[in-house]
Amino acid sequence: MESERAPLLAVRDLRKSYGSVRAVDGVSFAVPAGTVFTLLGPNGAGKTTTLEILEGIRDADSGEIEMFGMRVRKVTREMKGRMGVLLQEGGFEPYLRVREVLALFASFFDRPRPVSEVLTEVSLEDKAGAMVRHLSSGQKQRLALGAALINDPDLVFLDEPTTGLDPQARRNIWAIVERLKHEGKTIVLTTHYMEEAEALSDDVCIMDLGRVIARGSPRELTSRLGQDSFIEFDAPELPAAAWAALPGGARRADGAVAVNAPDLVGTLDALLTWSREHGVPLQNMTVRQPNLEDVFLSLTGRRLRG
Ligand code: ATP
Repeated sequence: MESERAPLLAVRDLRKSYGSVRAVDGVSFAVPAGTVFTLLGPNGAGKTTTLEILEGIRDADSGEIEMFGMRVRKVTREMKGRMGVLLQEGGFEPYLRVREVLALFASFFDRPRPVSEVLTEVSLEDKAGAMVRHLSSGQKQRLALGAALINDPDLVFLDEPTTGLDPQARRNIWAIVERLKHEGKTIVLTTHYMEEAEALSDDVCIMDLGRVIARGSPRELTSRLGQDSFIEFDAPELPAAAWAALPGGARRADGAVAVNAPDLVGTLDALLTWSREHGVPLQNMTVRQPNLEDVFLSLTGRRLRG
């Protein structure tokens, strides 16, 4: 359930097609102020198109948007002044220095924050004089985030903020998002990393093929699958007889098998016997609780990262 707080952003029945492709096909959601809201879905689910409409970069074909307590017909300059936008395709002039990039973005607004303050917020003080081309991907992404925060926005849109980053760089971005939330900002982010959605979000909308297929807090979404553990292992090729003999509630995706384990010890025992009898090694076996990937899999039969 979404929280009781008044939404800073609400979208009803949003639609956008590119020719015959229904990129956004009747999407509705509400984002309470001061929360982190995530659109989670695989590539092509319609997340970027949804965000671009809200950012005023694209026009919707139809649907209603409310932002900052106002009905939005067109995203105005004033509204843009209250938003921060991290686009999926960053890409700053490689020969500009970090400080110059932020000063350039600051010049777009009437009352920007001091560049030095933003440099500290995204931990780039010691790179202030470095050229963009000499930054690591994580540093470039923090710079892009700094540029998005230069106007001290109330509403921050982050389109796949950590795609392609290594785990440490990803965690650095997560820490900034958590701080922003702590400061009372409202954050809308898209991701296809279920760990990211789980770590950061108050509410998640799972999107697929332009539609919202589930929504709720990460805990609400995963609890729909029950509290049972899963035992998972890789088995790219499984003879039909072995598949049929697996202990109850097994499913397959991308060469991995997941077995429901309401009684962990009993199911492990049954699985070891099965493995011996059918000559199937339990490669990369893991035991875990249901996560958002499982929710997506149970709704679509596919994995988030295909
Ligand atoms: P990604 O993570 O790859 O950006 P996404 O969930 O953000 O995926 P969108 O980029 O919104 O999804 O794309 C939704 C659908 O619309 C896809 O089928 C995509 O191919 C299509 N699409 C997106 N932009 C355009 C465009 N400018 N012209 C035509 N089709 C487009």
